[in-house]
Amino acid sequence: GDLPPHLRVDELLHEAYGRYRGLRTGTVADYIPALAGADPDLFGLSLMAVDGEVHEAGAVAAPFSLQSISKAFVFALVCEELGHEEVHERIGVNNTGLPFNSVMAIELNHGSPMNPMVNAGAIATTAMVPGPSAAERWEHVRHGLSRFAGRPLTLDGAVYRSEALTNQRNRALARLLESYGRLVEDPLETVDIYTRQCSLSVTARDLAVMGATLAAGGVNPLTGEQVVSAEVSRDTLAVLASCGVYERSGEWMFEIGLPAKSGVSGGIVAVAPGKGALGAFSPPLDDAGNSVRGGRACAFLSRALGLNLFASS
Ligand code: GLN
Repeated sequence: GDLPPHLRVDELLHEAYGRYRGLRTGTVADYIPALAGADPDLFGLSLMAVDGEVHEAGAVAAPFSLQSISKAFVFALVCEELGHEEVHERIGVNNTGLPFNSVMAIELNHGSPMNPMVNAGAIATTAMVPGPSAAERWEHVRHGLSRFAGRPLTLDGAVYRSEALTNQRNRALARLLESYGRLVEDPLETVDIYTRQCSLSVTARDLAVMGATLAAGGVNPLTGEQVVSAEVSRDTLAVLASCGVYERSGEWMFEIGLPAKSGVSGGIVAVAPGKGALGAFSPPLDDAGNSVRGGRACAFLSRALGLNLFASS
């Protein structure tokens, strides 16, 4: 089926906003110093249907860095370029059951980065982005993610510099993959591109457009552009379903029943295939690194709008 009628969707989106706006649980990420100062009260919800219709409440135009949500869209771009087989073989698609920056996940799995939605797997995915130089590979990523958003995305320089100075752990993950022969590309150059993709500045509205593009089989509802194929959109959503919210992915699927991706700056995109996507932004996170208000809003709206993929009606 489709989404409920426009007015009903609008009403429910505002209800979700009103319900969770006052929620005071969660902590703003501070391991990247530039994120620590985010306003914990910010909360925005933007829902875009595959036909381009939009519903919004709260801080939908407040900028924040894309962080781990970039992993979903870089994965889609790499899948489009290199194919399903190659990413399955080189990266993997199983949940680690461990935090997003886990070294143990690699060690326990004979050097496999495990999946593209944790840091190691995302770094290995970014390494597969084609291009003759680091600058061109970065431009390829920025341009590709901009096509998902339907507008040119730019780097948040302060977040980029802050993370570049404090990302020793990601550099270590890349070196560890290299030691297992799993990263043949230049590890530090690759981590730099990964850090840049995480520092792209977006809004909740951008997340809704990016997610709606996956919901619509790769066609951006704003621009009409076919960004990736329908098969790649499907494969990306499958990986989000199993790995998108890290070690919480099982609970998320059990409670919400929608593929989603979160990032430490407080963004979440949840996708209802064939229907649309919700972009949520609110900085306070749970202990797995997922936005608390964003998760609650997704759960409420999945139920209220009848979006759970496993429901028979
Ligand atoms: N840039 C962040 C990191 O690599 C992204 C992590 C996240 O959003 N979970 O640590």
